[in-house]
Amino acid sequence: MDPHKQPRPTAPVDQVPLLDVGRGNRVVRDEIREAIQAVCDSGRFLHGPECGGLEASIAEYCKVDHAIGCASGSDALLLALMALDIGPGDEVIVPSFTFFATASAVWRLGATPVFVDIERDSFNIDPRRIAEAITDDTKAIIPVHLFGQCADMQAICELAREHQIKVIEDAAQAIGAEHRQRPAGSWGDMGCFSFYPTKNLGAFGDGGMLVTNNPDHAARLRLLASHGMQPRYYHSEVGINSRLDTIQAAVLQVKLPRLPEATLRRRENADRYAQLFADAGLDSAICLPREGEGQHHVWNQYTIRVAGGRRDALRQFLAEHQVGSEIYYPVPLHRQACFHNMRHPHSLRETDLAAEQVLSLPIFPELTAAEQQRVVEMIGDFVAKEKLLAA
Ligand SMILES: *Cc1c(COP(=O)(O)O)cnc(C)c1O
Repeated sequence: MDPHKQPRPTAPVDQVPLLDVGRGNRVVRDEIREAIQAVCDSGRFLHGPECGGLEASIAEYCKVDHAIGCASGSDALLLALMALDIGPGDEVIVPSFTFFATASAVWRLGATPVFVDIERDSFNIDPRRIAEAITDDTKAIIPVHLFGQCADMQAICELAREHQIKVIEDAAQAIGAEHRQRPAGSWGDMGCFSFYPTKNLGAFGDGGMLVTNNPDHAARLRLLASHGMQPRYYHSEVGINSRLDTIQAAVLQVKLPRLPEATLRRRENADRYAQLFADAGLDSAICLPREGEGQHHVWNQYTIRVAGGRRDALRQFLAEHQVGSEIYYPVPLHRQACFHNMRHPHSLRETDLAAEQVLSLPIFPELTAAEQQRVVEMIGDFVAKEKLLAA
């Protein structure tokens, strides 16, 4: 088959992957090959001109003054906390319903992650619950823009200002998202991005980026990401080694100009699911995700809720019919063995409920309408079967 050709929408579909990064990458295969070849020829595998070029492009894309490359989204979070001198005795408010890295960065510095519940509709940290969790030791809040939709940054930033607390955005899943027309990453003191291959802007390996409007933070982040070394072999403080390598930057430079188009495809896919589920009369049996007021959702995940304890059965059924799905996240952080003794100031009811009910469906940009129809059809079959069983 011609690798440049997309599967035709009319072709019969017998399987649907949760994610196929190959489809997006194939279209730019030649450009990426050339970009990688150029890095190989230059021999500048680190600190190549592509690194600075990508930083400038990401800063522009996110409407911020500074962008600093680093080795991963996890390192971006760690570096942001280090730049704020967060350490033992400090508390950092984080959602419990997120990827592990949000809280592990806090723990690694000897500070205490304080887990806060989420809003039911958005899956994002609940500003009202944040207010209850603030103490004299609270130094920062890390809102996570989960699944590609911003947390309520207006409310969170107001709270933070009032209490003189810093805000670090975990925007790993949300590059290009907006809240009240302001880009993810540009609201807080610093924003953290990941280029892990499954993210909306995925590299060919690990990579990360920090963004900020504060020149002092930018300088400190650069210093911390290069062993606190300035000038060469003189160390004013102890940093880490965290670099975005030139090959990853070169790949991302090819992919970034196509991100708006890819995001549009994701948004169209989300709309198509809403239509297909409604047409099939399934929108009451299954709870669909929706874009919140004032939000621009970039749909890193399309996450439905399945009530009545039938989520795992549906996932099993879909797997048997070659439809990919995944549970993000099955175990909230406050229930992880390594965090069992961490404080959480109130019940995390919504978090526990989400962990029981969520199921993410295929939403990647190159997913076809026929594939989406297949996903919805299979969910319809499951619901019909369940009704039969219940009758
Ligand atoms: C992916 C992700 C990270 C970590 O990014 P890596 O590049 O994999 O280290 C952090 N937070 C969230 C919410 C993520 O989804």
